[in-house]
Amino acid sequence: MDPSFTQESRTQKSLVASSVKRNSFSSMSKISGCSGEISSNKNINFYVNFEEFKNPIQETSKKSSQLILEYIPSEKLWGKTQKRFPKNDLKYDEVYNWLININHEMFERFDVSVDEIKKSRYKEQKLINLTNDTKFQLVNLKKEKVIEKDLLLNSNCPNMEANHSSSVKVVSLEDINAMGTQRPKVSFHMNWIPKPQDVYNIVVNNVNQPFQHVWLKTSEDGSRLIHPLEKHSVFDFVNKSMTNTEPLKPPPVETTPLKFVQDVKDLKELVAKLHDTNEFAVDLEHNQYRSFQGLTCLMQISTRTEDFIVDTLKLRVHIGPYLREIFKDPTKRKVMHGADKDILWLQRDFGIYVCNMFDTGQASRVLKMERNRLDYLLIYFCGVAANKEYQTADWRLRPLTDEMLRYARDDTHYLLYVYDLMKKRLLSSSTDPNNPDALLVEVYQRSYDVCMQLYEKDILTESSYLNIYGLHEADLNGQQLSVVAALCEWRDIVARAEDESTGYVLPNKILIEIAKKMPITNEDLRGLLTSNHPHIERNLTSIVSIIQNSMYNAAEFEGVARRLKEEHMEMKWFEEVSASSGAIGANSLSNIAGNQSGKKAGSVVAGVNWNIPMNGSGFINTKVTLQNMVENICVGNAAGNRKLDLDSKLSSSFPKCLQTSNGRIMMKQKEEDKDDGKKVIPEKWIVNKSAGGCKDSGGGRPRPRSGLVTDIVNRV
Ligand code: AMP
Ligand code: MN
Ligand code: ZN
Repeated sequence: MDPSFTQESRTQKSLVASSVKRNSFSSMSKISGCSGEISSNKNINFYVNFEEFKNPIQETSKKSSQLILEYIPSEKLWGKTQKRFPKNDLKYDEVYNWLININHEMFERFDVSVDEIKKSRYKEQKLINLTNDTKFQLVNLKKEKVIEKDLLLNSNCPNMEANHSSSVKVVSLEDINAMGTQRPKVSFHMNWIPKPQDVYNIVVNNVNQPFQHVWLKTSEDGSRLIHPLEKHSVFDFVNKSMTNTEPLKPPPVETTPLKFVQDVKDLKELVAKLHDTNEFAVDLEHNQYRSFQGLTCLMQISTRTEDFIVDTLKLRVHIGPYLREIFKDPTKRKVMHGADKDILWLQRDFGIYVCNMFDTGQASRVLKMERNRLDYLLIYFCGVAANKEYQTADWRLRPLTDEMLRYARDDTHYLLYVYDLMKKRLLSSSTDPNNPDALLVEVYQRSYDVCMQLYEKDILTESSYLNIYGLHEADLNGQQLSVVAALCEWRDIVARAEDESTGYVLPNKILIEIAKKMPITNEDLRGLLTSNHPHIERNLTSIVSIIQNSMYNAAEFEGVARRLKEEHMEMKWFEEVSASSGAIGANSLSNIAGNQSGKKAGSVVAGVNWNIPMNGSGFINTKVTLQNMVENICVGNAAGNRKLDLDSKLSSSFPKCLQTSNGRIMMKQKEEDKDDGKKVIPEKWIVNKSAGGCKDSGGGRPRPRSGLVTDIVNRV
């Protein structure tokens, strides 16, 4: 250690630093507050004619120059190394770089300070919650609004008195309309949380190879995996479901025992209880931003009498061994809401495959409810207004706040009752007297399909970079595209190795920005960063060398660049066409698809994944049935030459799915299809690649320079 680094100098240093931090904090907010008042569209020289303007401006300018001279070159502040102002041999480049470095450092420190403030605010809040009962109650009151009878949207709300007869707050029409538009107040990323992978020794296999479903048997000829559900018929579950149809109200949350399952002993107790029950509700909370494939952070389970919240980070390796059989047991009904993702997370993290599941999200669709989100169903059926603000919280947090625990618990507490009521309604809504259970069968069929999905790992291929969100709009040339491909490969390697999401390592927006500007010095690269990106910071040199190398590969990418530009032009054209002809959504789309292919209307939708996987990288996942749908709605002409017959049947009702001049099909995603709340995507044109997108582009797809990025990563 540096002997001159005495206690005294350390104190001095931190004093200077904290005073600068304080000053700069308040000055920054003042400046940003005032700057809005200066008119930007008038010439500042005009204002300078007035003393009232000129004097304070000059004064401020003098002060800031003074501050800059006083603090910025200060060794106390920046240390003795490269941050010093370049005194000797003043060169423009050096000063410029120095300034960029300082700027960067400032923002970095600003970021760190803001994080510190957030962290201490969070701790304070936690303390207040623990010590101040009134405050805590207030929070709860706010969360549990009860609908007043005369204001109910649905006077047939079957569970008016089920919860909390004391009418605390009224849920208005606005509240319901605001559903899904609530802005989360809670941060989705608390960067100071130690990585659970380190804390709990969570080992994952991120290699760029398909996921192995080691818990599944393989068919005799070895060609496919056998899901345990295959042994069962949907009708087994329907028949079991037909008995005992009287809805059972859940006890109020306040009087229901809650167990936070944190060790193996608790887990054993939970398993014992589940052994004695033939139905339970399940939900998971998940984090995708700070791991490559995503981490299941919590599992909520509710029986008719108790709530359980399982710490699946701490107990990760024990979950499968203890719960696998219970989830597989066809005699135990699992009620879940919008379980598409949950089913895959259970397979990936615990080797759990679910049999006999009833998805209330699917039931809501079959019943054609106004909305399919859980918060809507809870209001509609239970008169409870759940607070969805915590849906996207950082669920890696430990210990969890009371609000988060409450949110998690609410997600399953009422679900068995919602199931009871939905089942009753499904049975009474069938229009076919010979088939009173037709709708119930439909829900079980859809839930069956949801369970039958198999988790697939994201695999980087030579064309993955083409799926980057915003690539078309970026209008890049061959050289820039070559940089995109290489950076995609780089971030993929880093993300897998460090178990981070690709979006955390290098967000798409910055990736495209780097490709546009092609910085070839560390400083220039750093200049493009707007906030904290530790993996980029740590690898400036290697990234710069990747950029330089890929710039020489431009030729390989020229064809693709042309192709993307063409597609982009077409997209813009369609934007205009569709803007002038209204909108129609994916539900109608799937119905048309179903009818065309002779399948039951809507059956194609099960398992459709419209969304961008939420690992933050923004890869658009079009692999699913988009192609199916498009093929189905296309009217077959000559074999292999299906064409969307826009002019005849579809053009008036179907302006969001169009065929381009060269045979590509494009469709616009529909907002309402995100009803389970997990699908946050701006409306965006998707190109159906199979119908002639980049895949068939004349120039062929370029192969990334094999080994180039890996070489550089290993070298640096
Ligand atoms: P839920 O089933 O609604 O409790 O959601 C389960 C998990 O899905 C949450 O813990 C989030 O990780 C993720 N999730 C749900 N909705 C969203 C969303 N709108 N955006 C991003 N992630 C979401
Ligand atoms: Mn869920
Ligand atoms: Zn949940």
